[in-house]
Amino acid sequence: MANLRFLRGYNDAVVLGLARSGAVTRVELADRSGLTPQAVSKVVSRLIGDGLLVESGTRNVGVGKPRTLLKLVADSRLALGAQVERDELRVVLTDLAGTVLDRAVAPLPRDFDPPTFVEELNRLVDGLRSDRLLGVGIGFVGPLDHRTGVVHYPTGLTAWHDVPLRALAEQRLGLPVVLDKDTNTAVVAEAWRRGEELRDAVLVLVGTGLGVGMLLDGRVHRGVRTNAGEYGHTTIQLDGPPCVCGRSGCIEALHNLAAARGDLVEATSIVGVAVADLVQLLDIDHVVLAGRAVLAEPTAYLDGVRARLPKDEWLPVDVSITPLGDDVVAAGAAMLLLSEFYGRPR
Ligand SMILES: [Zn+2]
Repeated sequence: MANLRFLRGYNDAVVLGLARSGAVTRVELADRSGLTPQAVSKVVSRLIGDGLLVESGTRNVGVGKPRTLLKLVADSRLALGAQVERDELRVVLTDLAGTVLDRAVAPLPRDFDPPTFVEELNRLVDGLRSDRLLGVGIGFVGPLDHRTGVVHYPTGLTAWHDVPLRALAEQRLGLPVVLDKDTNTAVVAEAWRRGEELRDAVLVLVGTGLGVGMLLDGRVHRGVRTNAGEYGHTTIQLDGPPCVCGRSGCIEALHNLAAARGDLVEATSIVGVAVADLVQLLDIDHVVLAGRAVLAEPTAYLDGVRARLPKDEWLPVDVSITPLGDDVVAAGAAMLLLSEFYGRPR
């Protein structure tokens, strides 16, 4: 994890994180953070001084004088988030609430190498630069190491073998960078947007590949090497067609073949069967569908998945399409960076 010294301490991060969810009073901040009223008072003055919080109205609390409300100044700091696909780079600018304010998209050459990528990233970032920028989050195709910021060897990108992307990007951009799998940043975006409602969920990203981001008990599940979610390479047909991963009969290979020959029923059924298996395995109650293929045919994918889910009444599963559309991975990458700013990574 990059060492992001955005705030002057843990207490500042905790207070700001609480203010992110809506207007709060100093008393509520003390109750929820466990800090003393004196500590909260000190932190709040500092954050107001830095322009991150503002006093905004009052709330009546029965007896006693009304209490002053504190609000986050959402555009006081900004973040960038990037989505790297095998053929496209997308960068979005968000405020402290994770709202997308602007974006830039550019094609990437086939089998692009790290120097080409870093230059293109720098070009798009420059177009969105601001002196309020905290840093850049990058959602990249796996496998990669989220903690060290190293991209291992994604399929279809032959020049990428253990590339220290986070360090390269920080050096070129002159900004703090966090790196995570695209599926993880996408599920971070949904978790931010939906809060406590979303605790046990998967986000299924169907782009050039097929992967899942998992939110288990309210936290992103990354696994011991931070590579959990390579679900597209689960074998579902023993004598199936070869896959880019070297095995055969993978979910991703079967889905992409069906999609390529225009068999939407088959393609969406494969995703549906795969999602039903995940529901059985993880006992989740929310499934979010995202990615280019899904956004091109949202109703077909929704129907295909819903039709394959378990029908038991005690096992309801909500299936939806991300409302963040094409921005979900990039916006989530910005939110991942902001989570570090708030000191409460999910
Ligand atoms: Zn495979």
